[in-house]
Amino acid sequence: MDVKRVVVVGIPGVGKSTVVSKTRDMLSSRGLNVDYVVFGTVMMKEAEKMGVKHRDDMRKLPVSEQRRLQVKAASEIADMGSEILLIDTHLFIKTKEGYWPGLPYDVAKALSPTHIILVNATPSEVISRRSRDRERYREIIGEEEVLEEMSIARDMLSTVAVLTGASALIVDNSEGRVDEAAAKIVSALGVT
Ligand code: AMP
Ligand code: MG
Repeated sequence: MDVKRVVVVGIPGVGKSTVVSKTRDMLSSRGLNVDYVVFGTVMMKEAEKMGVKHRDDMRKLPVSEQRRLQVKAASEIADMGSEILLIDTHLFIKTKEGYWPGLPYDVAKALSPTHIILVNATPSEVISRRSRDRERYREIIGEEEVLEEMSIARDMLSTVAVLTGASALIVDNSEGRVDEAAAKIVSALGVT
């Protein structure tokens, strides 16, 4: 089978990590060699050395420092050679300096995705999932702002697809239907 490098993105609160975990389980249960890497966790290992205590504090660092962490994480992940690699990350990070790309050209190129999957949910689902997540410092915003974030995400999705040649897919993660979202991803990967 051709190697699949699947980048999964989505604004905070869409339930991205839940969908990716389910996707991994579905692929593994078919006997496929699948690895799952969370980009933010790889960055956090390095950020901890600089005294950052919580993953949600990384986005508050100056963008120049986040950029250094980002490039380092990308090069570590680029070396992973799984049959199927699922990469849980972000199209953009909301920083004090503005919407900052999670997959700028050099990072996207290093990851060389075959597929880029945008997990989507309704604004009210996003808001309620953000406020339910007690372990995280999620930004609580109104529906208008969620819609703005989603629109930025779609713009960046197209850009990354064009830059890398990856196929772009948008998958809804409706309340209580994670299995359906994961099944759509599995089917898009063309594995049987
Ligand atoms: P997550 O656990 O997916 O919410 O990611 C935690 C944090 O990791 C994010 O808020 C960002 O600070 C950072 N992060 C994840 N992916 C990227 C990326 N591609 N570029 C820059 N920062 C990232
Ligand atoms: Mg997550």
